[in-house]
Amino acid sequence: MTEHEDAALLRRVEALLADPDHAGHPLHEALAELLARHRSQRHQLERLVSISDRYQQLAMEARQVTQKRYERSLRRQQKLSRISDGYQAMMRERNKALHRASTLDPLTQLANRRLIDERLRQFEVADRPYTLALLDIDHFKRINDRHGHDVGDALLVAIAETLREALRDYDLCGRWGGEEFLLLFAETGLDEAWGIVERLRESVAGVGVSDGNRRLSVTLSAGLCERFPGESPAETLQRADQALLRAKRDGRNRSLAQPSP
Ligand code: GH3
Ligand code: MG
Ligand code: MG
Repeated sequence: MTEHEDAALLRRVEALLADPDHAGHPLHEALAELLARHRSQRHQLERLVSISDRYQQLAMEARQVTQKRYERSLRRQQKLSRISDGYQAMMRERNKALHRASTLDPLTQLANRRLIDERLRQFEVADRPYTLALLDIDHFKRINDRHGHDVGDALLVAIAETLREALRDYDLCGRWGGEEFLLLFAETGLDEAWGIVERLRESVAGVGVSDGNRRLSVTLSAGLCERFPGESPAETLQRADQALLRAKRDGRNRSLAQPSP
């Protein structure tokens, strides 16, 4: 029965009860009581439905609030994680730049002594073979004295560039000191390294910078030695240095190799 039909029926019953013709009829009192009870039950039912509706409404609102709160916190977390990712990438870049700055010589952009030491230690730990060459520019003081420090610097940069370009990726070229360079030929014997150093010395002799009037060039002396198994970097370096000293003493512009003991 629809609400509409229900209301119509009630109206009919009310009309019948109100009709004076039916007053005193034996069903009159029972029908009046039934009507009153029906009304009261209907009223209770409506209250229950209304309470239940309100409860459901509240529950839905609470769900919506929770959902909104969750979405807001999710967005905030996503934003935070984006910021943190960006920050971490920036820190990685900074660290790389710092590592570059702390391991490169600022003038020539070659490996500095710190990086050379690090690499030599790695080879020592792995006990791998290599050949070292110490290169020293001949009479470099004269260049500075006669043409100025800036011209000397320009020559150092040009020579560094030549050395870097000529070497293989897995070799290391560093600035060992003022006008001294160190070459580390990885997994390479003395004979092969010797050939490379001789070619390099020739290339460097062809490098020139202008002092405004003339083209200036320099020669290199080199001391080479091959690491023997178990030898420490300091010992290998000392032998290379002895070879370099002898190359200088023998007249410069030459290479000398120190045989293994
Ligand atoms: P030798 O053939 O015996 O090696 O003679 P040399 O003059 O090269 O050697 P010495 O050790 O007497 O002088 C090295 C010079 O290198 C002196 C120093 O002023 C110069 N020098 C060192 N570092 C730099 C630098 O960064 N820039 C310039 N322009 N000169 C430098
Ligand atoms: Mg020197
Ligand atoms: Mg020198």
